[in-house]
Amino acid sequence: MQREENKKLSSWRETWIVNKKLLQRLHTDRPKFLALRILKNIWDALTPYVGIWLSALIIEELAGSRNPDTLLHLVLAALFSAAGIALTGAFLKRTFEIENTGFYYYIRKMLSDKMLDIDFCIADETETRSRLSVIYQNQNGGGWGLGRAISLVDSLISSLFTLLGGIALTITLFTSHVPDSAGNMTFLNSPLFLLPLLAVMLGVIYLAPMLSNKADSYYALDSDVHNMGNRLFGHFGFLCYYNQRAADIRIYRQDILCQKYNFDKTSAFNSKGHFAKLARGPMGMYSGASAAVSGILTGVIYVFVCLKAWAGAFGAGMMTQYIGAITRFATGLSSLISNAGQLRINTSFLKQVFDFLEQPNVMYQGSLTIEKRNDRQYEVEFRDVSFRYPGSQQYVLRHVNMKFRVGQRLAVVGPNGSGKTTFIKLLCRLYDPTEGTILLNGFDIRKYDYQEYLSIFSVVFQDFALTELPLGENVATAAEYDRTLAKSCLEKAGFGERLKELPEGLNTYLGKTLNEDGVDMSGGERQKIALARALYKDSPFIVLDEPTAALDPLAEAEIYSKFNEIIEDKTAIYISHRLSSCRFCDEILVFDKGHIVQQGSHETLVSAIGGKYHELWHAQAQYYDNRENAPKENIF
Ligand code: ADP
Repeated sequence: MQREENKKLSSWRETWIVNKKLLQRLHTDRPKFLALRILKNIWDALTPYVGIWLSALIIEELAGSRNPDTLLHLVLAALFSAAGIALTGAFLKRTFEIENTGFYYYIRKMLSDKMLDIDFCIADETETRSRLSVIYQNQNGGGWGLGRAISLVDSLISSLFTLLGGIALTITLFTSHVPDSAGNMTFLNSPLFLLPLLAVMLGVIYLAPMLSNKADSYYALDSDVHNMGNRLFGHFGFLCYYNQRAADIRIYRQDILCQKYNFDKTSAFNSKGHFAKLARGPMGMYSGASAAVSGILTGVIYVFVCLKAWAGAFGAGMMTQYIGAITRFATGLSSLISNAGQLRINTSFLKQVFDFLEQPNVMYQGSLTIEKRNDRQYEVEFRDVSFRYPGSQQYVLRHVNMKFRVGQRLAVVGPNGSGKTTFIKLLCRLYDPTEGTILLNGFDIRKYDYQEYLSIFSVVFQDFALTELPLGENVATAAEYDRTLAKSCLEKAGFGERLKELPEGLNTYLGKTLNEDGVDMSGGERQKIALARALYKDSPFIVLDEPTAALDPLAEAEIYSKFNEIIEDKTAIYISHRLSSCRFCDEILVFDKGHIVQQGSHETLVSAIGGKYHELWHAQAQYYDNRENAPKENIF
């Protein structure tokens, strides 16, 4: 699919539309940067002609009347203009470099901001992640995409102005006449000679970049091979860098397993790989032919200028000017065509970026505000809710009906894959139900302002993510925060003793990536920090998905013993595989194959013989029952 998209070269119209979009975006986001970039390119393209022109005048004067005053003026003009150009150029460069700082970050941020802005349900799709990954691969592997478009626009502006400057200084080469006294050489004045000469020049100028673009296009059109090679290298080439993998790599000798991907000679970038074959074959030939054709152009120009000068059409000074200007003109034209071709190749990559950036959100955005209630009287109801994940025909939840009573401790249990986490994702509106409605205080949750709705939930997901920033900032998810509150949340989450041991306390960095004195926390410690973060947010609803999975039995027991103190007056929803840990909950929802099959207190459910809860309870209890000296009541 990707390969097919890239194989289609964009039309010139599309090239213009897509690249214009980028310029408009730059103009909106960073107008000063864009203006400076254009100015710098024009400056760099035109200023060399000043030197060429003044040098030609000096040589002309030296070869002609040799007037000392004129010469002095010309030399001074050459000196001052060179100094002025160099100074202004340096100033422009410096100002540009300052503006350019962070440009790479700006490009990356464009994509990551979009990723944050899109609905979770789109961000969660494999297709979205793979699109983003292809964009990064194109960018990091072949350099295609946003960065390339900007540097190509730079080069286009520069080559366009190089052309204009070259034309301005060369027009007289074609209009100057060889004197009649030159005899046969007057054929150089004839349009019949000039036209084929121009045709040859333009032909060569067109052919060279076309051949070079053809060579480059192999990289672009085969970007899928390139990307796959790059992905393999990105994964296997850096396998040994990660300390989390170090033990497994040694014990299972995964390095040997990976050798094939690192050293296989037929892999994309190796000596017998795809691109090596292309380089030995058509890609190399086109590239060589392009260089050869460029050489012919320079030769033809030199011969023409020399012949006209020899026949007396102009003197040595003008000859210098023409040679200098035409050489620059030829380079400019070549680069204009080559860059325009590259811009066209790059357009399909840039289009992928814009298709991603312009992908619309699909979730309804309501505007109702959520009443801030001190009594935390928020009531949530699932009314006949069914759900299937986007792109899937299979229902993961079916006809779910339930109501949370405020202040309740609600446990959600059930076998793997029965829909517990999906139920939570719907509750937090990470997805909208396929059928049915979820209501908050009687209103469809879609009608509320999304950010406000999210603010009433604190969730500790199973795969929670902490940052490598200091502990306190992680708990508060802010740089400025209430230290006393952060400390008390950590204590409630069972991290109090560990906090006392940390010399830097709340300022301790998590991990060593950002600070060498940082501390690598264990899985259980990280889970406690995640719990403290949920408590710090102090939302009316707290959702805990297996919150003690990584804790040792003592730590787990400590958390449960003060669960009521931790949760206070919040409504707690609690997912667990360990049924014993649900016993303190007022109500238990039992999920099986996407349905709520039972609902009630632990005592009611455990005595419902033949029910799912009874089955799960005894499956766990039996394992411990068979162990010697394991008192049944204290098992879980
Ligand atoms: P549980 O939390 O009870 O283990 P989940 O709610 O995580 O179950 O998963 C329920 C079903 O939904 C599983 O069959 C799972 O494979 C599927 N599922 C979960 N996440 C996705 C997703 N993002 N896309 C498609 N299917 C998913």
